[in-house]
Amino acid sequence: MTAIPFWKSKSFSEMSHQEWESLCDGCGLCCLHKLEDINTGQVRLTSVACRLLHLDTIRCRNYRERKKIIPDCIALSPKNVRSYQWLPDSCAYKLLDSGAPLPDWHYLVCGDRERVHQIGISVKGRVISEDETSDPEDHLWPEQP
Ligand code: SF4
Repeated sequence: MTAIPFWKSKSFSEMSHQEWESLCDGCGLCCLHKLEDINTGQVRLTSVACRLLHLDTIRCRNYRERKKIIPDCIALSPKNVRSYQWLPDSCAYKLLDSGAPLPDWHYLVCGDRERVHQIGISVKGRVISEDETSDPEDHLWPEQP
């Protein structure tokens, strides 16, 4: 008999911290600078990455301390995941919250952490660091959620 994977059998609030964290596919899309329209509240992603994002590995250089270094870095939780409408449609948290399954390319399903980069879901090779521009408005992400 095959065990049902935790992301199918547990609600967000039932998951351990480790299980919750493991849902992230490592796409890096939430690590991009965002622009908010002050009139409409609409949030648009840019192609400018947080300075803590390692652009080769698409990993945070200091995940544990990131909130101290970048105070407005988001920390997704079961309680706040719905408030971030700008999360990409591919984000595992957004998918599961809406009742959708994890996609075939997600590493928890396919077993390959590189897959998200190989098929162009992630920001790898498509972004610059915030140290390379003074104006994120010149660098809008082409696929807005
Ligand atoms: S957008 Fe979602 S899946 Fe992608 S890095 Fe952020 S939390 Fe992880």
